[in-house]
Amino acid sequence: MSLVTGASQGIGRAIAIDLAQNGAHVIVNYNKSLKEAEITEELIKNNGGKSTIIKADVSDENEVMEMFKRIKKNFKRLDILVNNAGIIKDGYLMMMSGKSFNQVMNVNMGGCFHCTQAALRLMCSQKKGSIVNIASTSGLVGQEGQTNYSASKGAIISFSKAVAKEYAKYNIRVNVVAPGFVKTNMTTANKTVLLEKYIDNIPMERFGESEEVANAVSFLASDKASYITSKVLTVDGGMTV
Ligand code: NAP
Repeated sequence: MSLVTGASQGIGRAIAIDLAQNGAHVIVNYNKSLKEAEITEELIKNNGGKSTIIKADVSDENEVMEMFKRIKKNFKRLDILVNNAGIIKDGYLMMMSGKSFNQVMNVNMGGCFHCTQAALRLMCSQKKGSIVNIASTSGLVGQEGQTNYSASKGAIISFSKAVAKEYAKYNIRVNVVAPGFVKTNMTTANKTVLLEKYIDNIPMERFGESEEVANAVSFLASDKASYITSKVLTVDGGMTV
């Protein structure tokens, strides 16, 4: 059993499809976009895979608890958790409201905290599990106009390393994938000009594809990475060194 948060679109959808193609029954979590989540499910099922849609706002502890109650009741176990759900609320720091800062922290870092904590309760009893958290190169090098987002993604990286150390003895691995620029709704909505500005900084001279991020996630999630934990894998066309 695998759970991908924020799998209704973009990178999360690609991850859900890839994990299903590798044989997992995938829980497609979404918050607002039911129709999009249904498309993810259809794409999985068209390829012969299995999936179940569950709505939960990952920033809300109660909704996450309800989601995990359903997982425990219906499936008894969870082998793979991918904390992918994320939002941006960009703006220069001097103009940024406390509300924007907190919303980004609560969804990106808070969601990762709630889901990881709930997943560990299942994984510890199984004595096996793999968690992959989606950070960003912004969390490694910082990004102007994204102090809130960079802080949330940097926090995910250090959180992941600490969780990896704490639960390695239970045979639970925790790794991070840090994508560079990938064209999804997150990056293209009203921001094409800003995005194009960054192409000169990418040695491979192109943006990434969601499927390229998904390939890295599937590897780290799988037993092929059985001796890899607490690592950050950048998928950024060489942008960060
Ligand atoms: P996206 O297309 O905007 O998709 C975001 C996903 O997150 C959606 O499925 C959305 O679900 C879900 N989500 C948002 N808030 C949620 C909440 N409170 N609870 C549950 N789900 C929630 O973005 P994306 O580009 O695919 O980004 C996916 C992840 O990759 C994010 O963590 C992002 O920070 C990271 N990332 C992206 C890039 C990039 O260039 N695109 C680069 C680095 C890192 P609903 O629509 O159903 O609400």
